[in-house]
Amino acid sequence: MTNIFRRSRRNLARWFTLSMGSILVIFACGIYVGVVQDRQKAFDEELYSKSRVMAAGIRYRLQQGQWRVKLDDVPLLGSNTLYIERLESEIAYARWYSPAGKLLLFVKEQPPPSVKISPGFATLRLSRTESASESQVWLRQVTLPVLQDGILLGYLQIASPLTPVQETLTQLCLLLAVGVPLGIAAIGMTGWFLGGLAMQPIYESYERLNRFTSYASHELRNPLAKVLSHAQLGLMSLLEPETEARSRLQTIIKTTKTISNLVSDLLFLARHEGEINPQILKQIDLVELLGDIAQEQAIYCEDKELTLKINLPQTGIKILAEPDLLCQAILNLLSNAIKYTPAGGTVELRLIQDSRHVNIQIADNGTGIPAADIPYIFEQFYRSDVHRTHNGCGLGLAIAQQIIQAHKGKITVSSTFGQGSRFQIELFYVKIG
Ligand code: ADP
Repeated sequence: MTNIFRRSRRNLARWFTLSMGSILVIFACGIYVGVVQDRQKAFDEELYSKSRVMAAGIRYRLQQGQWRVKLDDVPLLGSNTLYIERLESEIAYARWYSPAGKLLLFVKEQPPPSVKISPGFATLRLSRTESASESQVWLRQVTLPVLQDGILLGYLQIASPLTPVQETLTQLCLLLAVGVPLGIAAIGMTGWFLGGLAMQPIYESYERLNRFTSYASHELRNPLAKVLSHAQLGLMSLLEPETEARSRLQTIIKTTKTISNLVSDLLFLARHEGEINPQILKQIDLVELLGDIAQEQAIYCEDKELTLKINLPQTGIKILAEPDLLCQAILNLLSNAIKYTPAGGTVELRLIQDSRHVNIQIADNGTGIPAADIPYIFEQFYRSDVHRTHNGCGLGLAIAQQIIQAHKGKITVSSTFGQGSRFQIELFYVKIG
């Protein structure tokens, strides 16, 4: 591949990786945020349910004529052993505050001297000194106002370490840290592969165009040089006999005609690329069209002392086609058969019809085509070496194939070198009548 294609492929891969990679990163961030929120919500719900279990044990009783808050039945804070094991292992501290926010009782961690009580959840960092080393723990704390019959009894505050949530998030971070770069690398490789796939047809048509241009300029250079040299010679020897001057002019005219044919063939190939617009297709009688072409070519066969056999059905066959283009394709095959068949030979034009298609066959018992050349003869400018002495530029079959393919048809050849050739046009158009 040339540099420009390699660069385009790289750019395609880069932009693909950038866009898909950004989507992947956004997606990974979304997953992370979603998991964080989900885990925190689940953790809060569990903490809240623990605080409710504890709060359920708080009693407000009349004792010796005075209403008192009793914490005896509260797990952890009192003597209630219900859920005690679970609460002890999972709760970092439990505290009981008076309605005025004064600390009355606490278990495990002692609170800092002055804390403002505000109900709800909070995330705190707790520094602990364990065996001469200081460690920090993140805690989730809930402060629950405890009410009975509309009277505020106090505030229950409990906290749990956020370690399980942190562990899950660390694992997720690790997974994303490995997965996202791997995903981006996979996207990059896919982008490179897809870039190659996308560039392939463009590269091929670029190569075809290059080949076409170089062949075309090569084919034009020889006849142009011939015209130039004859014109220059004519000018240099102005006094040469009239017959010689005429012969030079005739060569110039003949060569110019060749150039003109070549240019029109090139233009034809360029203009009629791709499929035919169905709107320009006409209903034509193929038998009539072939009859006209055969009649026209009969003179050339006579000139070359060839026998022209015409084998057409008695009744007309109507098909949908562009008549001028189809005529051009058949003419190219027929004129080749005449050109490559020596005097005394036979050229045959046949039309065979079956239930779905029509087959136009052009056969000759001329020179035939060497087996090694057969795969290439439909390529633009390809000519078999054994036919280089004949007039031509190697575009006739390419044009015929382009026309037939534009009609969604097929053109095939079978040939034996030294015995003759048979070209067949198969048209798939639905027969009208
Ligand atoms: P051109 O005839 O101008 O060389 P074409 O594209 O029509 O170009 O044909 C390409 C080549 O195919 C010819 O040069 C010739 O070698 C071979 N060819 C085509 N038709 C025949 C045929 N009927 N018999 C033998 N060779 C043929």
